[in-house]
Amino acid sequence: MFCKCGKKAVYHRKYEGTYLCKEHFIKSIERRAKHTLRKYGLGNNERLAIALSGGKDSSALLFFINKLFRNVRGIDFFALTIDEGIAGYRDKSILLAKRLCERLGIRHYIFSFKEEFGLTLDEKVKDRREYACTYCGVARRWLLNKKARELGATRLVTAHNLDDEVQSVIMDYLRGDLSRLSRAYKYAVMHKLFVQRVKPFKEIPEREIALYALLNGIEIQEEKCPYARGMRFVVKKFLNELEEESSGIKFSAYRTGVKISRVIATHLSKKVMYSCAKCNEPSVNRICKTCELWR
Ligand SMILES: [Zn+2]
Ligand SMILES: [Zn+2]
Repeated sequence: MFCKCGKKAVYHRKYEGTYLCKEHFIKSIERRAKHTLRKYGLGNNERLAIALSGGKDSSALLFFINKLFRNVRGIDFFALTIDEGIAGYRDKSILLAKRLCERLGIRHYIFSFKEEFGLTLDEKVKDRREYACTYCGVARRWLLNKKARELGATRLVTAHNLDDEVQSVIMDYLRGDLSRLSRAYKYAVMHKLFVQRVKPFKEIPEREIALYALLNGIEIQEEKCPYARGMRFVVKKFLNELEEESSGIKFSAYRTGVKISRVIATHLSKKVMYSCAKCNEPSVNRICKTCELWR
């Protein structure tokens, strides 16, 4: 099949009924990411911390941000990587992250669980592997926020894509976590130590980010995280099957999530964010999850 420009298509975007050549596919991804970025209202004195794991999504993100802002005055950025300590997996992606930063000439900071908490993730969850995603996610977010702030970032840019966002909405729904569901789409800064999040890829399906990375010659890690299991991965599989059956369903689920979150937000009493009594970092409880699980 062929793109509207007459060139051979590399991608069939089913939910739009279009065929795209390499050039038009890349343009369409960047156009959509820019459109999402505009909603965050970036100013002309920004310093962005780009969360870089070295996986396909965050590598594509860094590539995109570099292309967009490299020569823009008033927007500065650097890459921020967390080494959780997952043998045979994270060590390889960190290598890819380093190489990408060198290739693009971007400042790169790496912080590890081991230095910060005294244990790697592998050591921490030796006898409770089934909880690895919780231990990992909680501490990674805590560390990313803290280090981004300490390095002077005005925003923390993450590579969450459409699939990630929809998975989160469904999981919050299944668990009945209304307060979390209402928070999902708010941009507001909730605490003075909380670095505002920016997700340029949140309206782009995961497989399109993967293709964007591939077409731009970004090296991609083959290994999967050894701890990847649990509810999120069941939901992920379910959503992919659903999308096959009915294309565009991820977008409609995403939009429904946004609508629901707005409605809930107006009905819930405003929840304040505390400063954790132990570490002083922003927290929804008096003691933050990271202190509870790690410190
Ligand atoms: Zn074309
Ligand atoms: Zn704490």
